[in-house]
Amino acid sequence: DDVVSAYAAPEERDVETSLRPRQLDEFIGQHRVREQLEVLLRSAQRRNRPPDHILLSGPPGLGKTSLAMIVAAELGSAIRVTSGPAIERSGDLAAVLTTLARGDVLFIDEIHRIARPAEELLYSAMEDFRVDVVVGKGPGATAIPLDVEPFTLVGATTRSGLLTGPLRDRFGFVAHLDFYGAADLERVLDRSAAILGVRIDTAGAAEIAGRSRGTPRIANRLLRRVRDYAEVRADGIVTEDIARAALAVYEVDRVGLDRLDRAVLDALVSSFGGGPVGLSTLAVAVGEEPGTVEEVAEPFLVRAGLLARTPRGRVATPAAWAHLGRTPPPGSPA
Ligand code: ADP
Repeated sequence: DDVVSAYAAPEERDVETSLRPRQLDEFIGQHRVREQLEVLLRSAQRRNRPPDHILLSGPPGLGKTSLAMIVAAELGSAIRVTSGPAIERSGDLAAVLTTLARGDVLFIDEIHRIARPAEELLYSAMEDFRVDVVVGKGPGATAIPLDVEPFTLVGATTRSGLLTGPLRDRFGFVAHLDFYGAADLERVLDRSAAILGVRIDTAGAAEIAGRSRGTPRIANRLLRRVRDYAEVRADGIVTEDIARAALAVYEVDRVGLDRLDRAVLDALVSSFGGGPVGLSTLAVAVGEEPGTVEEVAEPFLVRAGLLARTPRGRVATPAAWAHLGRTPPPGSPA
């Protein structure tokens, strides 16, 4: 099941680094976001000022970290990388902020998970390039104001709904990354195959692209698994037949659903007759947080035409029934 999880496995970091696009014009797809970012960066460069803070939101594996690095590279700036969960105390954040040089990019991944006191410190840093560091406790505590060099914060989140209003309001530019279409994923695969030295034909790339859940990280991972299979079981060339055979071995289904996706569809169809069913009831049935079901599984299921969100609850579409090889009962909403 792991082969279609959109989250990066720790051992995947090195290969991801080698496959990462380094400049805006190497970044495939997402045309609108790319255009908006380019204008933002160029105009800031003209004014010789760091660009506004940037928030990138969207499901995992769509290129948020890559874009953060591209922002720094395009500006010719250094980048400091941290994450919301790594910043437990405001002091952790103050230490990072006060060592930034003018124009640096600070990338905070999973920014929705930042601890509240640190988040409050971030407000003044983002707005006024100043932080008040509190030293001591109780009545003797004093706030020491410290200057922060003008910097650009790039925040990434898979759960933009969890961001507080004050934090969201301090980003001058918010970009939402969407799932990639088949043609863009094929370009991602061709590019990665060239970097990895894998021979792949058009039909082979199309077959993998169609099962990548609209996600470049998954496309790249499936490419590596299919390459392994092609080397061990054939002549190393990734064709449509080889891709099909390999993906069957890895139990990646026709549309590339992962374990949670399948669990959600299965519960919807088997336990709730196809719905409509409320989000929290559905989440309990699959043993997940409602937020995870809503923001991790549902976007792709909706995009794939397998699940519909209606005012009365979640509904399995006819395509979902067909995908599970089931027939909807007569009179069901599907
Ligand atoms: P996120 O931070 O959103 O989880 P990443 O930026 O880490 O996603 O992207 C995961 C991998 O997918 C990268 O290493 C890169 O190889 C690939 N990738 C993502 N977006 C693109 C893109 N637009 N063009 C080419 N490769 C991409």
